[in-house]
Amino acid sequence: MDFAKPGGISFEFFPPKSDLGEQNLWQSISELTELSPHFVSVTYGAGGSTRDRTLRITRRIKTETNLFPVAHLTCVGAAKSELIDIIKTLQNDGVTALMALRGDPPQGADSTWDKHPSGLSYAVELVALAKELGIKDIGVAAFPDKHPESPSKQFDIEVLKSKQDAGASFAITQLFFDVDSYFQLLEQARSAGISIPIIPGIMPLTEAKQLEKFSQLAGAPMPDDVKEYFSFANYDSTEVSKRGISFATEFARKLLLGGAPSIHLYTMNKSTAAKQVSMNLIS
Ligand SMILES: Cc1cc2nc3c(=O)[nH]c(=O)nc-3n(C[C@H](O)[C@H](O)[C@H](O)COP(=O)(O)OP(=O)(O)OC[C@H]3O[C@@H](n4cnc5c(N)ncnc54)[C@H](O)[C@@H]3O)c2cc1C
Repeated sequence: MDFAKPGGISFEFFPPKSDLGEQNLWQSISELTELSPHFVSVTYGAGGSTRDRTLRITRRIKTETNLFPVAHLTCVGAAKSELIDIIKTLQNDGVTALMALRGDPPQGADSTWDKHPSGLSYAVELVALAKELGIKDIGVAAFPDKHPESPSKQFDIEVLKSKQDAGASFAITQLFFDVDSYFQLLEQARSAGISIPIIPGIMPLTEAKQLEKFSQLAGAPMPDDVKEYFSFANYDSTEVSKRGISFATEFARKLLLGGAPSIHLYTMNKSTAAKQVSMNLIS
């Protein structure tokens, strides 16, 4: 898979906790398939909680659709031997691409990270393990706004470089709301010898509750002009959604024009906004 393919769109889904949620997910996948996404990724539940569903959904995408699946995997709460088993299961299912992540501490992003006694400490070790086991395409996380636990953006760049050196072939960013943070990351990465594609992750905000949540996220500060743009929606759900789609479209356009290889949309398992943003970008 060429993760540097210019102008493509990819989608991220998460494994729902209920059967009904899974049915809705498949409906969304089916609707978004029409847009021929570059690839689709399936997250790994915090704390490894939805592990079986991640594997099942990824397997089904591989066997029942013509989409290219990327399975997320984290080091949380897993011995190295379990991680090996999961990677081998994915390989048996024909899944050749993996997002190798550390994961957040299971007690929440504010608590300290403790590795499993027989597990891995950092994502870079999972990259190396996946590479050793023959995974072809290995993706990693990148952070336009500093990772909350990291001492500096420069350290984030060093970590990203170490992941490339260990075998990562592409990166997807954490969500962010300021295009300049992405361009700065890209520039610093290229100066440090990081050549892998760094795909910006964008979440179209379509619900008032998402605005509240994301405007307070320490790891992804929302600039005042963005807050103001959404404040005019005045919590009217139709207007929030309209503005969210419009904002995500313009944001993506700026990123693509400025050198982003493609766009990764966080769908929240819903197709409407992701589809609209994708169609706006194509037209
Ligand atoms: C695109 C994307 C997808 C994600 N998908 C999921 C998912 O499916 N499931 C999930 O639970 N979480 C997911 N996350 C969240 C991610 O797991 C967290 O952001 C986590 O806190 C960091 O993961 P990482 O892979 O960047 O870890 P790492 O690269 O290991 O970094 C974690 C922290 O350790 C530091 N660090 C790294 N290497 C070293 C080292 N050698 N020495 C000292 N310090 C070091 C880093 O600076 C950072 O502060 C995703 C994040 C992104 C951006």
